[in-house]
Amino acid sequence: QGKGELLHIVLLPIMAHGHMIPVLDMAKLFNSRGVKTTIISTPSFSHPIQKAQESGHDIGLSIVKFPPEGSSLPENIVSLDQMSTPDLIPKFVEALALLQKPVEKILQELNPNCLISDMFLPWTTDSADKFGIPRLVFHGTSCFALCASEQMHLHKPYKNVSSDSEPFVIPNLPHQLIFTRPQVPPFDLQEEEDDFSKLRQQMRESVDKSYGVVINSFYDLESDYADHYNKVMGRKSWHIGPLLLCNKGGDEEKAQRGKESAIDEHECLAWLDSKKPNSVVYVCFGSMASFSHAQLHETAVGLEASGQDFIWVVRKGKNDDENEDWLPKGFEDRLKGKGLIIRGWAPQVMILDHPSVGAFVTHCGWNSTLEGICAGVPMVTWPVFAEQFFNEKLVTKVLRIGVSVGNKRWQRAASEGVEWEAVKTAVERVMVGEAAEEMRSRAKSFKEMAKKAVEEGGSSYSGLNALIDELSIYVPPKKQDIN
Ligand code: UDP
Repeated sequence: QGKGELLHIVLLPIMAHGHMIPVLDMAKLFNSRGVKTTIISTPSFSHPIQKAQESGHDIGLSIVKFPPEGSSLPENIVSLDQMSTPDLIPKFVEALALLQKPVEKILQELNPNCLISDMFLPWTTDSADKFGIPRLVFHGTSCFALCASEQMHLHKPYKNVSSDSEPFVIPNLPHQLIFTRPQVPPFDLQEEEDDFSKLRQQMRESVDKSYGVVINSFYDLESDYADHYNKVMGRKSWHIGPLLLCNKGGDEEKAQRGKESAIDEHECLAWLDSKKPNSVVYVCFGSMASFSHAQLHETAVGLEASGQDFIWVVRKGKNDDENEDWLPKGFEDRLKGKGLIIRGWAPQVMILDHPSVGAFVTHCGWNSTLEGICAGVPMVTWPVFAEQFFNEKLVTKVLRIGVSVGNKRWQRAASEGVEWEAVKTAVERVMVGEAAEEMRSRAKSFKEMAKKAVEEGGSSYSGLNALIDELSIYVPPKKQDIN
């Protein structure tokens, strides 16, 4: 890829693991095609980038301070997953905008040919214009969710229903997707404008003014929606994923894309090795979702009642909560050898890719969803917030490789409302019986498609080539053409 060698791409994620992890993968991917890459990151998110550098990836790292100068965020708030109270969100939004100056200083020094930046940083379109380079937007989600969210915003179908239990369909999409009002993000429902809705408007405008959108997915997974996005919504986009498949370095590399694991990885593999193929359910809700104690308790009872072996990741250290009153009495002793609880960060992709794992109970964050697809496992979908309720529909209704646990309510903090019987039933439905086998075999075929997409000649491989070619001959529009 001779042309790639002329390029230098700067990547700018926001401070959240679900945004940072795929950006690191993207840098590795561009790198593998000879493109020079630099990630702008903060001290607390630089560790996995340094690890990647140590294992031979030629990725540059430029550090910005976060919270930036002038921010009203407390100094100890360094990540989006610390947004425990609603008053922090406007401060976080303000802090993201304050990054403009330090980021532009770095761009001036690095003089790259392209900026790929997170959707939450709308000002980066202007920054890229200042330097005469294209800005590509990275949303970090499925094209499916982008389409559904846009049509929801345009048509507001939830306004036509009179109760929370009355279903509605999002119009104008390739499939009939049925929702209820409590599953709609609260910021869509509210009438008055706040800082976050202003940011979302700026984000939309900046996508329209940007050069295009890179998508961490592959065409065959959501072809109707890729076409809809380009032809109906008129956006220029490149499907270049699944990005995680650029990690070809085995278990160690798979385990080192995010934080340090809270479990010894060899111990975890040994536990999995002792199990039969497809016999373990892996349960994890990403880096941000939080459950009430009551919900954790119901989850534990449901998992035990399902009779399946499981690995359950709980975002709590033992010392956070000495009594652990959310666990049923004697739970861990009773389930010794059968259920493994990881308190803290799990080496998720390493676990999912192990042949003993037979299903994934997921919150449908897009990275997790895609990791489940690449592992070829059926899923229990348990969306909690963000765009997760959309991704659930992709998994259960379009791809038909999952069963919904039936969560009815979008909740940012201390989510609850799913009873243990629902957990037990959904887990059984993806693990046992003919329908489960059908889902598993469909999931395996998506896994194969994903692999093909990123191989030479595959759709994502070619998409990336096309993008590199375009960027190599990019000429900035004349100033008077920019409106
Ligand atoms: N992840 C992980 N270990 C954990 C929790 C999460 O490796 O214990 C990774 C997971 O593999 C995924 C990312 O963190 O790559 C979470 O992103 P996702 O979009 O699924 O959810 P979010 O955290 O943004 O809600």
